[in-house]
This record gives sequence, C-alpha cells and structure tokens, in this order.
Amino acid sequence: MPAATPRSLHDLGFAELVEMLAKDGVIAHHAKALWRALYHEGALDLADHRFSPPLQRWADQAVGAGKAFFLDAPEVADEIRSADGLTRKFLLRLRDGQTIETVLMGYDGRQTVCVSTQVGCAMGCVFCATGQMGFVRHLRPDEIVAQVLHCRRVLHHDHPDKRLRNLVMMGMGEPLHNLDAVLHALNIISDVRGIGIGPSKIAISTVGVAPGILRLAHEQQPYRLAVSLHGSTEKERAALVPVSQRWPLTVLLDACRQYGALTGKRIFFEWILIAGKNDSPATAARLARLLAGIDTHINLIPLNPTGGFTGTASKAGHAFQKILLDAGFPCTFRQRRGVDVAAGCGMLKADRRTRG
Ligand code: SAH
Ligand code: SF4
Repeated sequence: MPAATPRSLHDLGFAELVEMLAKDGVIAHHAKALWRALYHEGALDLADHRFSPPLQRWADQAVGAGKAFFLDAPEVADEIRSADGLTRKFLLRLRDGQTIETVLMGYDGRQTVCVSTQVGCAMGCVFCATGQMGFVRHLRPDEIVAQVLHCRRVLHHDHPDKRLRNLVMMGMGEPLHNLDAVLHALNIISDVRGIGIGPSKIAISTVGVAPGILRLAHEQQPYRLAVSLHGSTEKERAALVPVSQRWPLTVLLDACRQYGALTGKRIFFEWILIAGKNDSPATAARLARLLAGIDTHINLIPLNPTGGFTGTASKAGHAFQKILLDAGFPCTFRQRRGVDVAAGCGMLKADRRTRG
C-alpha cells in the first residue's frame, strides 16, 4: 500500500482503478463492482457493501481515515431554491475550506448540472462575479466529479424518477485553464458503467482560450464547445473580457474555424447583452460578418446584474437577435434560470460574502 498523501477514490479513472487494484492483487473483474458502487449507487461508505471478499478486504484496508484513499462528499454550506422550485443552487465546501457553486436546473423535463472548474477565475471578465473574485485555485478531478454526484444524490432523493442527463461547465472558473483535470473528470462522468452522462450532452464553455480549443479539436474530444464572445471588435471585447488581449478575436476565431474543420462540429457562441456596450445593431451586423462560414448557434444571454452594468432592454435584444436570424444564424435567448436565486455564476458566493 503506498504511503503517499491520501487521494480521493473519485480521482481515479476506470483504467487506473483496475491497475491500482491489480497492484494490490485484486483482479480486474472486481473493478466493475467498485465502479458501480461509486458512480451508480453514489456510495460514500464501502464498509459492508457486499462486495466479493477480495474487494471488500481491499476496501477495508485501503479506503478510510489515515489510509491510501478517502471517500467523501463536499459539505453543503448554503443552498438557494428558485421560487418555481426548478433551480437549486448549492454552495459546496471543499476539504480545504474553499467554496464553489454548483447548480441543478430542471427545465423542459431535462435535468442539467452546471459545474464549477476552479475556485475563482483568472480571466477577470468585468461583468462576472467570479472574475471579480480573482483566481484562488484549480479544482481537482474528484472535486468536479463530486459536484455531479451531489446533484444526482439530491435528484434521486427528491425525484427518484428523474435522471441527470446534461452537464454544462458554466459555473465558476475557466475550464480550458484547467483542462487536464476537466478532461479527466469528464472521462469519469461520461463512463457508461457509472454516471453515464453522454458526451454529446456535455458542454464545455470557454472565454476563448485558443490553445485549449485547438487541443480539444486535435484530440477529437467528443464534448460540445461553447465560446463566450461578447464583443465584435478587439476594443469592444477587451473592455469586457480582459483576457482577449492575450488571445485576440482574430486568433480566437481562427482557432474556432480550425475546430470546426477538424471536428465537423457546431460551436455555440455565447453573448451577454449589456446595455450600451455590445448591443447595437451595428455590433450585431459585425458579429454576423465575423462568424460567417462557421457552423454555429448563437446564444444570447440576459445579463445577471453584478454591479455597474445594465442588461439590454427586451426590445433592443430582439432587434439584435433579428439581425443575426436574418443573416442566417440560429440564434436563441438563453432561458433565464431561476432569476430569483441570483443565477449568474459566482453570485451565490459573492452574495454570501456580503451577507457575512
Ligand atoms: N469561464 C467560462 C465558463 C464559466 S462562465 C466562460 O466564460 O465561458 C459561464 C457563462 O456565464 C459564460 O457564458 C459567461 O459569459 C456567463 N456569465 C458570467 N457572468 C454573467 C452575468 N453577470 N450575467 C450573465 N451571464 C454571465
Ligand atoms: Fe471566468 Fe467565465 Fe467569469 Fe470570465 S465569465 S471571469 S472566464 S468564469
């Protein structure tokens, strides 16, 4: 048994689990039962799990306080439900005391989990509560997986008939800034022997980290890609998304074009409508020219107020949408999810800090 720092069992991919059991003399066959317990049943205690004797012996000696592996779930530090009951937002406390947000959304009969990938974010978008916190640390794979397990547990408790089938990486943090951990976690989350959320039901949202987009394309990662654009000129975008100075629009859109060519997949562009900043008809027309030739769907997002900015009024928003529709782009408004629960990413945490 390794005497290294204890590691979460939720950190191991299936192949690694097989390898690790083999090292301790447990044959590969037993890995499936363990995986099933972890990800199908969401087990947090392996004692008396009615495993086969060799697996139970391994679990008894390897998992638990002071042993090589631990198994736990983040503590729920706060929770808010929308008045319609369809959105539940959790503030989860990690082992080192840091907190992150996870949102469970149940719309159109679909259950979607919105996960965080970092504590804070280094990208500094001016309209985003997480961006204004700054970067604290990356999440480890098990901390990403744990958010999904938590929502599955909650859903199973309240609505045993419903299944979690969709995942968006639109919580706190920039997934492509923590891409190794994100891909490792998604590998676990999409494994059909366990949680089994299909790759086509998983969306990675990025502020536009061009090298990460290219990596997803070259590796033919099966997930959906959403790019938060928010500006049609370098100046317009840089005023909202400071990191665009590092990967300017020309570089970003070139990466998107390569992504499209290499994967044949559609890209979702996200656009928060902010009054007087990026919502003019001229901007919409420029955006249409910018995205020409890319297979795309444009998602217009109503701004969740985070101070200093005002969302675009409905009439101007629809005029913006019409220009894009007329130019031939599929373009929809993102449904406002639980507006009464401070729905923007990072807002629950920001709110809690001000509440003390
Ligand atoms: N860092 C990634 C993913 C997390 S942010 C990204 O930026 O894409 C997820 C989504 O929330 C992004 O589309 C982002 O633009 C949006 N968002 C951030 N702050 C917001 C706000 N105040 N109102 C509405 N959407 C917001
Ligand atoms: Fe980070 Fe995304 Fe927020 Fe920008 S919008 S600060 S990239 S979490």
